[in-house]
Amino acid sequence: MTAHSNSQRLFEEAQNYIPGGVNSPVRAFKAVGGNPLFIKSAKGAYITDQDDNAYIELINSWGPMILGHGNTHIQAAVAKAIEDSLSFGAPTAIEVEMAKMICGMVPSIEKVRMVNSGTEATMSAIRLARGFTGRDKIIKFEGCYHGHGDSFLIAAGSGAITLGQPDSPGVTQGVARDTLTAPYNNLDSVHEIVKANDGQIAAIIVEPVAGNMGCVLPAEGFLEGLRSLCDEEGIVLIFDEVMTGFRLSKAGAQGVFNVQADITTLGKIIGGGMPVGAYGGKKEIMDYVSPQGPVYQAGTLSGNPVAMAAGLSMLTQINEDETLYADLSKATEALEEGFQANLDELGLGYTMNRIGSMISLFFTEEHVVDFDTAKTSNIELFGKYFREMLNNGVYLAPSQYESLFISKSITTDAVGKIVEANRIALKAIHY
Ligand code: PLP
Repeated sequence: MTAHSNSQRLFEEAQNYIPGGVNSPVRAFKAVGGNPLFIKSAKGAYITDQDDNAYIELINSWGPMILGHGNTHIQAAVAKAIEDSLSFGAPTAIEVEMAKMICGMVPSIEKVRMVNSGTEATMSAIRLARGFTGRDKIIKFEGCYHGHGDSFLIAAGSGAITLGQPDSPGVTQGVARDTLTAPYNNLDSVHEIVKANDGQIAAIIVEPVAGNMGCVLPAEGFLEGLRSLCDEEGIVLIFDEVMTGFRLSKAGAQGVFNVQADITTLGKIIGGGMPVGAYGGKKEIMDYVSPQGPVYQAGTLSGNPVAMAAGLSMLTQINEDETLYADLSKATEALEEGFQANLDELGLGYTMNRIGSMISLFFTEEHVVDFDTAKTSNIELFGKYFREMLNNGVYLAPSQYESLFISKSITTDAVGKIVEANRIALKAIHY
């Protein structure tokens, strides 16, 4: 049994000063049992805890570390930026470079505003859509997570499902009334909602590939259908690509499915590991943002030069790496094949969903296409699986309702180790 005494001690101390001992609920191991590991360092595919246990990790800081931990180019860019001070609160040259880079990579983004997190990006995007259309209501999909803005904590995924608090206290009835929800992949339902709220819908916000109820792919025609509906009804289509942006392709999910959003929200990878988010889109919409337009949105640390240095280095490397996405897909496909072989060997019929370097193994035999089918997963079994994987050196997201992320550091050797851990873990929890 691996020793976790330092993590244990830190967690006990943390709980005296930090609610639940963690600065984000998804970091707690509440859904899987046990206490969170306190992390000391990470390099490449490995993360090391305060007891010096090393694990192959498949969370990648919940997405950002697509090139693996300790990327020397990003670290050098940050070190260089720091020499010139940490923040100015005034425009900088690197913000212009960053904006040009994003607009160059994501064709639907003509102008972009930098913020400090994915949550800020989505909150700002819906305010902008409301200001632009003069309408109040938005449609989101059950099981999609768009950060912790009040408007989004309605049938939300990720930690909100994991902890069984789909509607958080503190979100007013008034705010909740303006968020209408539809099942993911169900176009008919969206049409019905739009019809019943004629002329009142400002935006439809969607994860073009959902990652917050586990990985769930858009059904054929779903994104295209949303696009046509928004065009017909003058609704702003927001693709929340905080997770998929720069992960599925240089142009995110839009680059894979060839459907363009009016506004795209970004985060995670765009900061190279620093706290960064962004929202961008059509010029005519973005020009509604203050100080050009009337929709207010601001930030003391937005476009922070150190964060921009990290993000720009990340995007530059992604932009220049012609084989990155093919390599990531290949490694993830090898993982999928290995997991499938293990399931077959053990006579288990569980479902796997994968696209590019996002993958989820659901402990259900149903096809997982939306929140309801995702919830058929056996959560207790997932908890046991999580703990067995950890005991066998693999650190997974501590929830069934998350996608795993593969980084460039997951090489053939690491894939082999993960697949073997998966075989041992599946066997241990079933036999
Ligand atoms: N949108 C999506 C799709 C996300 O996955 C997340 C976070 O996981 C967010 C928004 C919120 O981003 P942040 O945690 O940076 O506020």
